Amino acid sequence: MLNDDDLNRYARQVIIPNFDEEGQEKLLKTKCLIVGAGGLGCPVALYCSAAGFGHIEIFDNDVIEISNLNRQIAYKNNEIGNSKAENLVKECQKLNPNISINSKKEIFDESINIDNFDIIFDCSDNSKTKYIMNFLSHKNKKILISGSAIQMEGQLAIWKSGLNTDYPCYECIFPKTSETAPISNCREAGIIGPVTGLIGSMQVNEAIKEIALDDYQSTAGNLFLYDGITQNLDKIRLTKNYQCPVCSI
Ligand SMILES: [Zn+2]
Repeated sequence: MLNDDDLNRYARQVIIPNFDEEGQEKLLKTKCLIVGAGGLGCPVALYCSAAGFGHIEIFDNDVIEISNLNRQIAYKNNEIGNSKAENLVKECQKLNPNISINSKKEIFDESINIDNFDIIFDCSDNSKTKYIMNFLSHKNKKILISGSAIQMEGQLAIWKSGLNTDYPCYECIFPKTSETAPISNCREAGIIGPVTGLIGSMQVNEAIKEIALDDYQSTAGNLFLYDGITQNLDKIRLTKNYQCPVCSI
């Protein structure tokens, strides 16, 4: 049962047909792991907090720099030099004091135990972390919601290979290669703030549907490509790689 404060706080969600109070109760019981407190992690953490995901943990070992502020909208000019993870937690607590949320000022690596979480948000900006998150999410049978953005383009995908063997994993579609990767980080290639805001919002939208809605057709197994120049959003059906070293053994 939702208390009076929560009924008021989430009033505009619980009136949605098929969401109801039951949907809100499910969100409040859900444990979210957010890896990366940057351009994607800021909107993901803020929208997760606002929606009432009950338990949130944010991983990031970086500090706020002036060049982050065009997109990492939870941070203010006078907070340069602060820990991103700690700062983001503080902002989320201001937004919603009724949920539990904590920070880890650490690099996310293979040793992290993710078994306690229900939803894993990949808001990282490097492929090494994305491969580790994919491996751990598959092994622990978790829903992994990946975002990435560069210049004026963004990508979104929901990976559920550990929960359903028909679904591909991240490494099926983006296999590791020994070739030199093209420039794929914001520092070198650039990024427009609203693109990360949009992709981060879409990540939380997918999480809300996965957890709260009954009778819902998951978008796992698709890759969404957003082009900020043309405003096209392409949905590409993905196929599993049955030789994938992560999900096919
Ligand atoms: Zn795979």
